[in-house]
Amino acid sequence: MTMQSTLASLRDTNARYGMFHAMTEDTDAGDAKFLFSAKDNLTSMDMETCAGSRILEGYHPNFDATAIAKMRAAGGKLIGKTNMDEFGFGTFSANSAYEIPRNPFDLERSCGGSSGGSACAAMAIEDHVSLGVSTGGSICCPASFCGVYGIAPTYGRVSRYGLIDYGNSLDKIGILSTKAGDLRKYIGVMAGRDEKDPTSCVQPELRSGMVRVKSVAVPKDGIQGLSKDVESTFKASLEMLKSMGIDVEEVDMPSFKYAIPAYYVLATSEASTNLARYVGMRYGMQEGDLSLKFDDYFSSIRSEGFGDEAKRRILLGTFTRMVGYRDRYYAKARQVRQLVIDDYKSVLKDHDLVLTPTMPFVAPRFDEIERMTALESYKADYLTVPPNLTGMPHMSVPCGYDGNGMPVGMQFVADHWNEEVLFSMAEDWEAGFELRRPSA
Ligand code: GLN
Repeated sequence: MTMQSTLASLRDTNARYGMFHAMTEDTDAGDAKFLFSAKDNLTSMDMETCAGSRILEGYHPNFDATAIAKMRAAGGKLIGKTNMDEFGFGTFSANSAYEIPRNPFDLERSCGGSSGGSACAAMAIEDHVSLGVSTGGSICCPASFCGVYGIAPTYGRVSRYGLIDYGNSLDKIGILSTKAGDLRKYIGVMAGRDEKDPTSCVQPELRSGMVRVKSVAVPKDGIQGLSKDVESTFKASLEMLKSMGIDVEEVDMPSFKYAIPAYYVLATSEASTNLARYVGMRYGMQEGDLSLKFDDYFSSIRSEGFGDEAKRRILLGTFTRMVGYRDRYYAKARQVRQLVIDDYKSVLKDHDLVLTPTMPFVAPRFDEIERMTALESYKADYLTVPPNLTGMPHMSVPCGYDGNGMPVGMQFVADHWNEEVLFSMAEDWEAGFELRRPSA
């Protein structure tokens, strides 16, 4: 497909999969060098930006997020803003005030979340890459469910300027694509220190060239609780890695199982402060009754504008930060976070990468998701949350398909600033792996 024909059929593609919240009106590729889309929590000048929330309806930012600006400067044309869980709160992109994207391999199933629209677009639109954001797994999870490659780079590698924050100490902008080589290429485009984001780092440059991966470590807790299909596909992938000359060793990572509770304390604490700015005055929804006292006005807008999951997280996060509880929850969770980092650091002294499946099951059907409790869906992230807590770069790589043809992904984690090891691993794997695209 040419860029021109992709643009001409964009509306039809979206009608089928529902990946876009907003789309470009301009169907002329002009002198664009490549097409890209971006998760709808990245501000974009020419398209409404709502981050999946009703409360931001009508928000047209007057600036581009740095990541989007850099992609445009490299010749990219932004074709759409992708549907997502409200502010990134979710695992299936179903916690949204807007359209829920449908999995390209089975329209009755989820694309994963919270960057579900991005993974869907990366799979369904040829020769196109999509920007996603991960706080606790929101790039790897949907990449795995939609059968594409997805990377969350080292925290601080890509500027967060223009990103609508979920958890500032965790959020990372990354890339999803059907081609492993695109990850190296476009992280390279977006990386770098940015004056406008003090948490973006002066950083070691991304080196080109291949790194030979000699050994990967598989944490024992990372291979518990898997569905049969994921377990057998993952085992077969380990054999494949061995046949590529890579040592595979099971290791103990005692902190692994504490990552989920620590993450949900830290992430909701940060989210609850970030959401305080949405009061119907500066961005988005403003049609409240201005004759009310100001706090009644704020409450009325917030009651209407936030979805259930956002409200749950405001309550949880406010509780964990309260005087009297802070030490028991927030401070404790920070200590656990350090233990998780120490565990990864010590394993990565002797191994190039840590490896687990990305998700414990393949993309679930929407009726299955409806029956899940909040806790069940939080727990589904037990493989993606640990690397996110560490700030280390991690990548989901498609590694097989179950009996229904649904994709399975595996997740590699490298030490801080060692993205090259991930890129090399993915490119080597890609050479021997037959990636499937859904039949249209
Ligand atoms: N599913 C996790 C959550 O709901 C992670 C989401 C994310 O990375 N944005 O917090």
